[in-house]
Amino acid sequence: MLDSMRYLSTRGGVPATGFREAVLAGLARDGGLLIPATIPDVRDQLDRWAQLSYGELAVEIIRLYSDLPETELTEQITRVCAAFRDPEVTPVKPVGPVHVLELFHGPTLAFKDVALQWLGHLFSYLLAQSGGRLNILAATSGDTGSAAIAGLRGRPHLRIFVMHPHGRVSPTQERQMTTVLDANVHNLALDGSFDDCQRILKALFADLPFKDRHALGAVNSVNWARVLSQIVYYFYAAFRVQRATGARAVQFAVPTGNFGDVLAGWYAARMGLPIRRLILATNENDILARFFRTGDYRRGKVVPTLSPSMDIQVASNFERYLFYRVGSDAAQLRKLMKGFDAHGRLSVPLDEHGRVDELFAAGVGATADTLATIRRYFERHDYLLDPHTAVGVHVAEQHLDPGAPTICLATAHPAKFSAAIRQATGRDAAHHPLLDQLADLPTRCTVLPADTDAVRAFIAQHAGVEGKPQARG
Ligand SMILES: *Cc1c(COP(=O)(O)O)cnc(C)c1O
Repeated sequence: MLDSMRYLSTRGGVPATGFREAVLAGLARDGGLLIPATIPDVRDQLDRWAQLSYGELAVEIIRLYSDLPETELTEQITRVCAAFRDPEVTPVKPVGPVHVLELFHGPTLAFKDVALQWLGHLFSYLLAQSGGRLNILAATSGDTGSAAIAGLRGRPHLRIFVMHPHGRVSPTQERQMTTVLDANVHNLALDGSFDDCQRILKALFADLPFKDRHALGAVNSVNWARVLSQIVYYFYAAFRVQRATGARAVQFAVPTGNFGDVLAGWYAARMGLPIRRLILATNENDILARFFRTGDYRRGKVVPTLSPSMDIQVASNFERYLFYRVGSDAAQLRKLMKGFDAHGRLSVPLDEHGRVDELFAAGVGATADTLATIRRYFERHDYLLDPHTAVGVHVAEQHLDPGAPTICLATAHPAKFSAAIRQATGRDAAHHPLLDQLADLPTRCTVLPADTDAVRAFIAQHAGVEGKPQARG
């Protein structure tokens, strides 16, 4: 077994575990995040990999980090690719000064489908092997919930409970979740905010006897399988743009919330993909942009924006990056995270050039920038950017590099955020048949108070047969 198939906790408090345990546990039991013991160097594979299709490339990359049988993995990836409406899965298109990597051709029209379609197949396989079952609990402000439901609906051995803030997700996002009527899907609309949903999620995962009794699992981006599957499109897009432009190095602009997507880019760079820079873009919720400019990570207040999936102040995946940034020193990491929990801030020393990390550039796309960028790309390039993607494109334009083409990750289809598109362009320009047809479908959803005990009781009642404990990270 390769060392990259063994997983360690960032907090160093649990023994190394295998891929299967890492995926089923989500979070390590010491509260840390699971990371591969080593990161493979693939530089001598790049020329060969550049010739592969998306699906072939996914198999090559995932097999370095997992011990799944090759035929099984190939089968899973073939099914994932078939769920995307574009034959390239994640096509790259030149638009004005940038290349747009379209990650929104999956069932729910957001990039989270790339990972969650795979996670559905992966969970089913792992559970069928062990005879276990899993109750997935998720909190969503919109995109995660629908992508997770689309990936897990109708699967045996699995139930999914998704909490969203009642009346505070967009009507489209709400319908994408509540029109799914499969018996294993439970939508919970909590009378509270997204923060309440996250607080309840954390409380239930911290209740280890409850977690074990009901075999609770996680699908948010702390799950290593999500990060892993997202590494693939960095390679895929870089190869396509290298071929189209003749350039060797590329850079990526990534609209960021929980630091999951951009972390996958960081792994791709560490594996040897020639990435000159990762351009991290946030909206007004700019804790990460501030960190990469100053070394200071300081919690702020969440403000609602046109890019709601990035309205996050504490990025759940940041801990993985921070672990490497402090020299893979779990004791130092624990100290920083403890300080952050207590005081809402932490900091790292800058390098001799006053930088946090030479691989990263960072910037903010505020609401006015987002609207102006959507309008400009629509008028000049006849291309509609969703508001999240527009944040990334706005920041990318300030970091263009003549020697390294810029690839902007397009994380959602504009039709998911049609109100913002209308505001930017003055036209009802963004539609998608998949969303239009949801309007008349029946829905199912349970409204609950934003109270941990109420959610705990609902899960206990609907989790079905007691699960075999799965979470042993
Ligand atoms: C989730 C999401 C993001 C942020 O991704 P992270 O991995 O949390 O950084 C950006 N855009 C859209 C449309 C999303 O759904």
